[in-house]
Amino acid sequence: MEKWWIEAQLRDGGRCVYCGLDLYATFGLYYSTQGDHLIPRSTLRQPELADVLRNHDVFRGGPVRYNSVSNCVTTCVFCNQHKGKALPDGWERMTREELIDWNRRELATVRSSHEREYERRVAVLASRQQPS
Ligand SMILES: [Zn+2]
Repeated sequence: MEKWWIEAQLRDGGRCVYCGLDLYATFGLYYSTQGDHLIPRSTLRQPELADVLRNHDVFRGGPVRYNSVSNCVTTCVFCNQHKGKALPDGWERMTREELIDWNRRELATVRSSHEREYERRVAVLASRQQPS
């Protein structure tokens, strides 16, 4: 594991920054831990955004790097897959914390519908496993 990625996980307390899942609770969760990039690669590659990115709170005057402690947050598989490359309108003027909060709110909405589906599947599985 690369040093910057270990540092990011320690900063985030080993939890998904979006849903709070404790990714160090089990070996399986630990190995499924993913890094979400707050500002996606496609945005970082736009030359007309160079000044905006250099001055953005995510990078705080440091180097503008895709894989960096400042651009990455610790996430579970669900949150990372459903967040994707989403960036809110006005991201250019948002702080790093505001970007995380926006993602957190968006993912909470997506998560609730998936949780209902999960509960239905658990019930079906449980009914099939009843001893006959
Ligand atoms: Zn999560």
